[in-house]
Amino acid sequence: MKTSVILHGLHNEFSLEQMKACIELAEKYGGLFRHVVTGLQITGIEKEDKEQLISELPEGVTTVIHRGVNSLIACVGKGHCKNGQMETQELADYVERKHYGRKTSHKCKIGISGCGRNCPDAMVKDIAFIGTSHGFMLAVGGTTGIKPEAGKILARNLSVEQAKKAVDILVDWYAENGEPRERMGKLLVRLGNPLEGLKL
Ligand code: SF4
Repeated sequence: MKTSVILHGLHNEFSLEQMKACIELAEKYGGLFRHVVTGLQITGIEKEDKEQLISELPEGVTTVIHRGVNSLIACVGKGHCKNGQMETQELADYVERKHYGRKTSHKCKIGISGCGRNCPDAMVKDIAFIGTSHGFMLAVGGTTGIKPEAGKILARNLSVEQAKKAVDILVDWYAENGEPRERMGKLLVRLGNPLEGLKL
């Protein structure tokens, strides 16, 4: 029986060495690549080979979990893209180190865009940071699926340090309060804005 495995690299970035190693693994186990929302999928491999393939992944490449912070995508941001209004890498590195892979009641996707063109589709992520000329705008509770919805804007003009504090509060709050299979947007409706009245 065929199966697949989804791979995550540093906020969706794979080094050349990691890519070469992943290509070799796909070749070795007879798979193909597909790009999916949560990462890079090697598909068409035999089910009995899956664990072995995972054990051979290069350093820094992990498999994607289903319930937890399972998707982190950042665009290249200011300094690497002519449209960028905010740098994205420092915030993305921080989120990766501190929160990627944490267990939560349901999936939690995070998107970081350097400007409002929003290449990473951040507005439909559970947590979205979108660069503007005055700082990051924060939107929470976006989702795709059966009832697609854009996130609700909870803060504007955040510095990178303020964005780090906000993501810490939001992920902790979700991990502590989310009920089974409850996405962050539903939790926001049930409990209200956890940033209300806080000075970031
Ligand atoms: S979201 Fe903006 S800054 Fe990021 S890649 Fe797209 S155009 Fe460039």
